[in-house]
Amino acid sequence: MTRTTPDVPRDLLQPALELYLDLHTHPELSGHEHRTADRFAAWLTRHGCTVTRGVGGGQGVVGVLRNGAGPTVMLRAELDALPVQEHTGLPYASTVPGVMHACGHDLHLAAAAGALALLARTRATWQGTLVVVGQPAEETLEGARAMVGDGLYERFGTPALVLAQHAAPLPAGTVAHPGPGPLMSASTALDVVIHGRGGHGGTPQLTVDPVLAAASAVVRLQSIVSRETAPAEQVVLTVGALRAGDRGNVIPGRAELCLSVRAFTDTALDRVSAAVERIVRGECAASGCPREPEFTVTSRSPVLTPDAAATAALRRAHQEVLGIHRVGIAPPLTATEDFPWFGTGGVPLAYWLLGVTGAAQWRTARNTGAPVPANHAPDFAPDVRTALPTGITAMAAAARSALATPAAPSDAETTA
Ligand code: ZN
Ligand code: ZN
Repeated sequence: MTRTTPDVPRDLLQPALELYLDLHTHPELSGHEHRTADRFAAWLTRHGCTVTRGVGGGQGVVGVLRNGAGPTVMLRAELDALPVQEHTGLPYASTVPGVMHACGHDLHLAAAAGALALLARTRATWQGTLVVVGQPAEETLEGARAMVGDGLYERFGTPALVLAQHAAPLPAGTVAHPGPGPLMSASTALDVVIHGRGGHGGTPQLTVDPVLAAASAVVRLQSIVSRETAPAEQVVLTVGALRAGDRGNVIPGRAELCLSVRAFTDTALDRVSAAVERIVRGECAASGCPREPEFTVTSRSPVLTPDAAATAALRRAHQEVLGIHRVGIAPPLTATEDFPWFGTGGVPLAYWLLGVTGAAQWRTARNTGAPVPANHAPDFAPDVRTALPTGITAMAAAARSALATPAAPSDAETTA
């Protein structure tokens, strides 16, 4: 069975779409999501939730909707945008210079808001407690951990299941569920400082050049994946920033590297991190650096392994509401989420990808072989008119399948 558009009542879809457009136009960076949190909290209050702000010490929003006895199910969406200059040319493009909702978090918020409204409107069909979370600072991998650390589950109840969906460059109107095992890699971000001895560019023999040491380290670091990692083990090492000096005739005193390492096991991540340190120390020794290099881990996020039984149940629920052809399988991704922190204490997690690429864009990519604009790119432009109703339907159906169904009245009750 295939359906063209998921069934979301128009009088509910329209305000959810307006919320999306408003959030997209006014993106806010991680840790500064004040306006976004206001808008999301106001929506939750309007639809019957008891709302708590500031959970996790930042802009974390928690809305609770109690509806009789039954399990607690948590819906999570992220509040933050990215330091990217939008180049979509859309009429509702970001009005904030250099800031853009380039990861689709605005879509996640609008879909969670729409799903909550849909469930609030059909209370007679389910039982339990819905906890809707607006999480700040996902892009810096800080928000989820902070909210859990601030007693999220002690204060609002430990969920039987936590649900999240993420915009992805897949056809709009579809969702994709993980197969068995991990969906997203664990990652660590690492800053390195190499100390040289600065001086005149014309007398390098009187200096220790940190630019050369850093350049050698960058090249040699690539051998960790190619020579120290089993081919079947998926590991990524990226040096995303290399900073040193500011003019051609001065040898600077220091160089800085920013690295991102991803792997599907904590053991692999630890091994690669140790190899990074060994190589950088070795290059510094080879250059005769006057001081040991410094290493700072700026973030670390665990691997995301969704609960297998919950994933199977949600896949069936999505096939029912979207049609079997709109539910695909997502391969493991070397992307990182801080969502796994919500699994602290063994709380089961469910996570799926929400397709956002419009049909025309998908066709062009197919015909030309060009990649479709993906998350974090300045031309990432979700086909919201298809992806939003799909996201609302998918989230509501997922929540419904994890909540309790009210018992039909018994004979005794009907005859009494
Ligand atoms: Zn992102
Ligand atoms: Zn994201």
